[in-house]
Amino acid sequence: TREWQLAARPHGEPTPDDFRLVELERPGPAEGQVVVRMLVMSVDPYMRGRMNAGKSYAAPWEIGETMKGGAVGRVVESRSPAVPEGSLVLADAAWRDVAVLDAAHVRVLPELPGIPPSYYLGVLGMPGLTAWVGLFRMAEFREADAVFVSGAAGAVGSLVGQFARLNGASRVVGSAGTPEKVRWLTGELGFDAAFDYHDGPVAELLRDAAPEGIDVFFDNVGGEHLEAAIGAFNEHGRGALCGAISGYNAVEPPPGPRNMFLMVGKKLSLRGFIVGDHTDMRDEFTTKVTRMVTSGDLVVRETVRDGLDDAVDTFLDLLRGGNTGKMIVKLAEG
Ligand code: NDP
Repeated sequence: TREWQLAARPHGEPTPDDFRLVELERPGPAEGQVVVRMLVMSVDPYMRGRMNAGKSYAAPWEIGETMKGGAVGRVVESRSPAVPEGSLVLADAAWRDVAVLDAAHVRVLPELPGIPPSYYLGVLGMPGLTAWVGLFRMAEFREADAVFVSGAAGAVGSLVGQFARLNGASRVVGSAGTPEKVRWLTGELGFDAAFDYHDGPVAELLRDAAPEGIDVFFDNVGGEHLEAAIGAFNEHGRGALCGAISGYNAVEPPPGPRNMFLMVGKKLSLRGFIVGDHTDMRDEFTTKVTRMVTSGDLVVRETVRDGLDDAVDTFLDLLRGGNTGKMIVKLAEG
């Protein structure tokens, strides 16, 4: 079996030298274990935090440790009656091609028409639930709200904007990093307005895109985007603080929003959250979003790259914005 390990902690932007691909002898499965051949694995922004020493929102990877992440695979050998050979399973187990896992640590997935395995890493997986929890529970989205989502062309953001539109938002505005992404948001996803945040001060771009102000902000980016949203909020505005990717490679703490005091007069509430604390919403989310996917109401897009050998390049490209929709690494057919 081949797997990626963390070789060094990055200073600023990670480089390929911070990772190494190793070949290991694979033990046979013990009683209660299964052997899983991975089909697709996820690369996610939170993994950048795991490369640092000290806790971010996930525990750090140790140097020389197997890097882990969400993956879907096929059970090729089983010593657990609960997870028979042939099952499609989700596990926090990849950055490797094959893994021996405790059956208790895998989740058996349904195999539904129109739902490829990779969807369990995106729209029907952790990023999808993040979008759902953040919009509906944290930001308490209500019909007729005007919504702004930063990082809108990514895995989480592209779903937030669509959930808001499908639930009666008065206006949906998104930001993203390229003109193509901006066109995709307004063209295919039905955003009312979108802008490329490279095109000027975010506060000005947002004012033009949402002249009547915003009621809800879903933040994936932080920094200048957060300051701009605080400025654009209407009274009683609500923000879900999901991520702050503009600062993940920062070596010094980035400056905070300079206009926090506006929160007082506007009576704003901004709430940070971690999706893992909200798994009680998973059943409702899965039922409703599966229906939205199979009915075609939801536009689902992935950027799929091939192979374990290139998984690090794919991860680094995710951090630089090389993806539209969910970034997926394809490992095998099946
Ligand atoms: P994405 O699919 O959105 O991929 C990351 C995107 O970030 C890139 O495509 C890029 O798009 C954008 N980006 C990179 N650098 C910058 C920058 N300096 N400024 C603005 N945008 C930048 O990832 P996810 O949808 O998986 O995650 C989105 C956010 O949600 C992340 O912040 C992540 O940490 C967070 N998250 C939080 C969870 C929680 O429980 N709180 C759970 C899951 C995700 P572009 O071309 O537009 O720049």
